[in-house]
Amino acid sequence: MQSQRQRLNKKKQNITSKLPPLTEILRGTFIEWWQVCARSNCKCHKSRKYQHGPFYRVSYSKGNRSYHVYVPLKDKEKIKTWVNNYNKLWQGIEDISALNIKLIRKTV
Ligand SMILES: [Zn+2]
Repeated sequence: MQSQRQRLNKKKQNITSKLPPLTEILRGTFIEWWQVCARSNCKCHKSRKYQHGPFYRVSYSKGNRSYHVYVPLKDKEKIKTWVNNYNKLWQGIEDISALNIKLIRKTV
């Protein structure tokens, strides 16, 4: 039978094996948006359903400022995955930290 320590270590390995690769992460918010153009006679001014788009960008902060970077349409899914990976990675770090706290408590 597995000890509690072994079970906790097994859980950690399980979490680690599912973490996304560090090379495919992006800290930011993925944003989908539509645009009204400069041509005043364009139908995009009449209704939201005629607006141009969707376009994609990622907003991110650095220091106290926020920035954004446009995402080419062809890279949309990849960049969305990178943003999701960042959040998954942090969740994994939180989960492993919680397990490590349990492991410390087992030794004292
Ligand atoms: Zn327009």
